[in-house]
Amino acid sequence: MPHYLCATCGTQFPPSDQPPAACPICLDERQYIGWKGQQWTTLDQLRADHHTIIKEEEPGPTAIGAEPSFAIGQRAQLVQTPQGNVLWESLSLIDDAAIDAIRARGGLAAIAISHPHYYSSMIEWSQAFGGVPIYLHEAERGWVMRPDPAIVFWSGETHPLLGGLTLIRCGGHFAGAQAAAGVHWPAGAEGCGVLLGGDILYVVSDRRWLSFMYSYPNLIPLNASAVRRIAAAVEPFAYDRATARSGARLAPARSARAAPPGSQSGMIGRQR
Ligand SMILES: [Zn+2]
Repeated sequence: MPHYLCATCGTQFPPSDQPPAACPICLDERQYIGWKGQQWTTLDQLRADHHTIIKEEEPGPTAIGAEPSFAIGQRAQLVQTPQGNVLWESLSLIDDAAIDAIRARGGLAAIAISHPHYYSSMIEWSQAFGGVPIYLHEAERGWVMRPDPAIVFWSGETHPLLGGLTLIRCGGHFAGAQAAAGVHWPAGAEGCGVLLGGDILYVVSDRRWLSFMYSYPNLIPLNASAVRRIAAAVEPFAYDRATARSGARLAPARSARAAPPGSQSGMIGRQR
């Protein structure tokens, strides 16, 4: 039986003869149903007309994306450490070229994903590398469409990963019961630290500041108290660069600063 993929958000579902009745991720106010209605595809169909692209980001992690772009344009980053490699985020498409590229860089020891919009085909990525653990915050349990024993739900505010990486519960984009996590990577940027913010701490095109949204496609702002909570969550961590899914990079930055009172947006790691 196929594992259907939602064509709008890229989330993979459990095996079924027929496509699922609906996609809860897209029905949520942070996402949307496409103008052609709910559409489904499969990984095999996706592989027929898409391929992965591997891009070295110097200095920094290796980015993995799909071409042409699929769903919400998810991309993942391979963080290499002496203790093993971590795939930060996930995407719907996985093919031999991506698997070979990761193997050539030492394989995969773990996967960590910021929030449900990136869960995509995470189980496929885990299984391609022997069932490596996938670290998600327990508050997001209800958003996992394809459960699997490889998923490790962590609780609390921070969680250590291999290689000195730390998962940080930030909240925000998925707030309250739906927390999100960023990765702090102390060995990145020549030992100065990298903050992998996903959509949670979004590096804008200008690259001098970060911004924060409750919904990006629907342009629903995040409230100021949630922005301050994110600032407080990452404040203890030193980092020289922050990266976002767009590939934009904020640098150099070391300190966190919350938004001024009454502001809808904030700055974290503002340029020195
Ligand atoms: Zn969807």
